[in-house]
Amino acid sequence: MSFVFTPPAIVSVPVVGSSERFAVHRIYCVGRNYEDHAKEMGFTGREAPFFFLKPADAIVAVEAGSTGSIPYPSLTKNLHHEIELVVAIGTGGKNIKAADAQKHIYGYAVGLDMTRRDLQGEMKKQGRPWCIGKGYDHSAPIGPITPAAQAGDVGKAEIYLQVAGQDRQRSNVSKLIWNIAETIEHLSAAWELQPGDLIYTGTPEGVAAVVAGDTMMGGISGLGELSVKVV
Ligand code: MN
Repeated sequence: MSFVFTPPAIVSVPVVGSSERFAVHRIYCVGRNYEDHAKEMGFTGREAPFFFLKPADAIVAVEAGSTGSIPYPSLTKNLHHEIELVVAIGTGGKNIKAADAQKHIYGYAVGLDMTRRDLQGEMKKQGRPWCIGKGYDHSAPIGPITPAAQAGDVGKAEIYLQVAGQDRQRSNVSKLIWNIAETIEHLSAAWELQPGDLIYTGTPEGVAAVVAGDTMMGGISGLGELSVKVV
């Protein structure tokens, strides 16, 4: 087969303890999935889950032990960090029941749902899609994927983000409004999940701005840390 131009390289994420990489298919994100974050965004925290997507090539894959970098994006004056547990799907499916969700999960990673908050806010106000605020280039930094069997009890893991050694976000995955299995049930009712799909499960409270020169250090217990500098 030949193409009219060279096809783009496959986007992939390193895997802890393996030389094989996880090829990325789609990036699904859950909105407002921690009650205290929903409240800081002006909502009650009691609503059905909702989803948005980022393009797969928004991934910035950071190798273990290194600091990744993202450019300060265009058009915004309010770039926010959102530290998130990312679920990596290894076996696809549709209409997956929460009770069966675990066997579809390949592993977990620490991710950042970087957000042009001012642009997202403007789109919200106008009832328009969030894409320009959420799905822009380099908006999805992620650390290595830890296979599920090595990840411990992710559902009860501490999740945090620091900038310059100061806590910005600190919570626990147990505070998810819709837990991992319920999220997979809802998501797979709307889309057929595929191997390679990533699910950014939502961020706890404490989202705030970063500027060029800041280094974000995020982590989830059992999954290591993710370090990303804004340049
Ligand atoms: Mn988010």
